[in-house]
Amino acid sequence: METQIKKTVGIRGEYDVLVAGGGTAGVFAAVAAARAGARTLLVEKNGLLGGTMTAGYVNFPGIFNFWDKQLITGPCWELMEELAAEGGAVLPDNDYTKKHFRQQIRVDGFQLAATLDRVCVLNGVDILLHSMISFAEEAPGGGLIVGVTGKEGLYALRARAAVDATGDANLAGMLGYERVRSKVLQPATLENRLEGYRIEDVDKDEVERVFETAIEAGELEREVFSWKSPYEMLLARRVNMHIPCPGTEDSGSKTAMELEGRRILYTILKLFRQIRGCGNIRVKVYAAECGIRESCRIVGEKTMTADKYLSGYVYDDAVSYCFYPIDLHKLDGGGVYIVYLEKGVMPTIPYGALIPRGSRYLLVAGRTVSSDTETNSAVRVQAACMSMGQVAGTAAALAAREKTCVGQVDYHRLIQALEALGATVPEKNIAQ
Ligand SMILES: Cc1cc2nc3c(=O)[nH]c(=O)nc-3n(C[C@H](O)[C@H](O)[C@H](O)COP(=O)(O)OP(=O)(O)OC[C@H]3O[C@@H](n4cnc5c(N)ncnc54)[C@H](O)[C@@H]3O)c2cc1C
Repeated sequence: METQIKKTVGIRGEYDVLVAGGGTAGVFAAVAAARAGARTLLVEKNGLLGGTMTAGYVNFPGIFNFWDKQLITGPCWELMEELAAEGGAVLPDNDYTKKHFRQQIRVDGFQLAATLDRVCVLNGVDILLHSMISFAEEAPGGGLIVGVTGKEGLYALRARAAVDATGDANLAGMLGYERVRSKVLQPATLENRLEGYRIEDVDKDEVERVFETAIEAGELEREVFSWKSPYEMLLARRVNMHIPCPGTEDSGSKTAMELEGRRILYTILKLFRQIRGCGNIRVKVYAAECGIRESCRIVGEKTMTADKYLSGYVYDDAVSYCFYPIDLHKLDGGGVYIVYLEKGVMPTIPYGALIPRGSRYLLVAGRTVSSDTETNSAVRVQAACMSMGQVAGTAAALAAREKTCVGQVDYHRLIQALEALGATVPEKNIAQ
């Protein structure tokens, strides 16, 4: 039986908008809310901002340009331009005949983390690092009381509106909103880079023999290699592993993922060292935490579906675009299941997909947006997450200012505010 203890938690401060999670979506939610005039707090569990882009070492955001048009703009694009101007990124050339992943922006991880700090500070966002969201409830008279655990312990804050950008819909879960998971979640990856060998010195057959023996001996599971073979990993100079993902909404499952990611990387490293030409192979860099492709998703006022995504359907409350193929990583040896968009198709994201069903003061942005499994595998990419963050931050600021619920934010005022922010909003005259 659970032992209950009662404790009084003080309310330490008040904000217009609280953003939970300072990752890909959260930073831009906070910047957008602050630019809309809201007193904004960004609460992040790690010691740096950027989430999957920095701590997860997935530093290649995509895709901002759709065919030959640029349709994701605003503070997130300004940041890419600033990074490029300072030598920390190479902007895409808008040549859509290239593979989709070649249109992504390779950014320098350190410069990105430092620039995210600066952009938040310059825009007046209060940042709290090393802090986790701990509980949440609706406040008497409107808004939310949100518990935060800092190094000093537990306290509470009040916010008129909040954005859940935790990547796991943690705040939505704490408020009791429904979350769903795909039957099988896409695998995770502990990103890394290898050095200390020349591929010309390596015999492909020997690599295959060593790894086949290890798999048969039970040292590694075959599904780890369902994306790339060990030799392809050496060619790519990184271990592109697939780690089965049991879910990442709680610290227990996150811990299991981290242990598994490092176990796999270490085991593979030791096997590589047995191969001629690889005796000095090293992990040059590795991510501080596993990159999570898929977690739970909210059940929103609207749910994006693959048929609408692939047809470029323009929702009546469309607030943003997303451009990426359906891109499902599979553990069963199928590698990556990809469905490309037909030429000219520009899918949209509806505002309703950011509102947990029944929510009055909370919006969600990022990979936990309301969507079916296939659509989620496309809209989870970084440019789309940033753009959703901008929408959610702007809408939360409007709701806070007007002391209204997030679902009652006037669509046309939201569009005007997004345009004022510099964000591109979907054209309503595009044929359905
Ligand atoms: C291996 C891999 C490869 C990928 N490749 C690409 C690619 O090529 N191009 C592309 O565009 N996208 C790619 N993606 C997808 C993309 O990187 C992610 O889907 C996206 O970054 C998720 O953004 P997010 O804001 O939802 O979550 P995140 O960026 O993960 O941000 C969530 C933030 O919330 C914080 N947080 C979590 N819980 C709490 C809490 N309780 N309290 C406070 N803070 C909390 C986290 O620390 C984190 O900073 C890839 C993903 C992976 C894993």
